[in-house]
Amino acid sequence: MSEIQVPFGNMKLNYNFHKAAIDEAVTRVLEKGWFVLGQEGRLFEESFASYCGQAYGIGVGSGTEALHLALLACGVKSGDEVITVANTCVPTVSAISFAGAIPVFVDIDQSTYTMDPSRIEERITPITKVIIPVHLYGQCTDMYPILEIAKKYGLKVIEDCAQAHGAKYRGQVAGTMGDAGAYSFYPSKNLGAYGDAGIVVTGDPAIAEYVRMARNYGEKQRYNHAIKGFNSRLDEIQAAILMTRLPFLDKGNQRRRQIAARYSEAFQDIDGIDCPAEAEGRYHVYHLYVIRVRDRKRFQEIMAEHGVATMIHYPVPIHRQESYLECSNQASYLKSTDSIAPHIVSLPIYPEMTDEQVNVVITAVKVFFGQ
Ligand SMILES: *Cc1c(COP(=O)(O)O)cnc(C)c1O
Repeated sequence: MSEIQVPFGNMKLNYNFHKAAIDEAVTRVLEKGWFVLGQEGRLFEESFASYCGQAYGIGVGSGTEALHLALLACGVKSGDEVITVANTCVPTVSAISFAGAIPVFVDIDQSTYTMDPSRIEERITPITKVIIPVHLYGQCTDMYPILEIAKKYGLKVIEDCAQAHGAKYRGQVAGTMGDAGAYSFYPSKNLGAYGDAGIVVTGDPAIAEYVRMARNYGEKQRYNHAIKGFNSRLDEIQAAILMTRLPFLDKGNQRRRQIAARYSEAFQDIDGIDCPAEAEGRYHVYHLYVIRVRDRKRFQEIMAEHGVATMIHYPVPIHRQESYLECSNQASYLKSTDSIAPHIVSLPIYPEMTDEQVNVVITAVKVFFGQ
């Protein structure tokens, strides 16, 4: 293997770029001496909710917790069913398990890798409570049909926006179409903290109030616990860091889109490579640039020989994970999910990538395809 020329991500470059502002923000919090649930958190909650165009934002400890607390706020109880996809990052489903609910998987649309709305109704039962569409890889799920089905059956919708900061569906920002949107600020996301963090955005004051209590031991007023809660708070240092990075989110997404456009243009005439499709009316923010190739193992080897790091998101669908063996009998509903899994592979894409690095990736892909 040759030396890595294009790593899959580079958090240090990001810090170097924002160093002065980050150092100032962290020092400010340290000197104030107030670390949990304070001014910095409130300011970021308001700013991020307003960025999304939504009324409420409630900072929490992680994206997983954002989903978990949103599920509880939507009234999900032990034994209820929650519909989602199996082609996702495992925390989507961990949150369902945390709530004591049963994950029910719907197949994906093979061109966008997101939930296929035409396959939802066959999975609804009398104990279905919530649908969680996952805006995977940075592109929104086809939301209108999902909202219509939810209305018809009296279900709540929680959007998993962990990979979709700033993504849009017919002009609406991810997380503002359903009853709630759950975001993660894990460091490598399009908007990342320097540690764990998440937020729930919602326009429903009852959901907002529930999450606000649930994240802080169920406290309504000091020492007055209205519900059984948790400890899942967004700390002041992470909030201050996120506040310095929020103004750069759109620019970062634009750079991601620029790199994606260069890839897609360079690969358009190559037989045997499926590039990501941008569905009509959707603003894709390319958290990941995922292609499909027939011989993935060989592809990754050749890329590595050219110094290009690749990854797979995700090699094993949830219903095939050891931890979710009880879901393996859902496979008959998940033909597309199973058929893409052996072929998907992610190329490096992040705002700090240089044009030269993009060229290195393109050249390596062309070499693999003999061009
Ligand atoms: C990252 C991610 C999560 C979980 O977020 P954490 O902050 O790591 O808990 C949930 N869903 C998806 C699709 C993700 O990519």
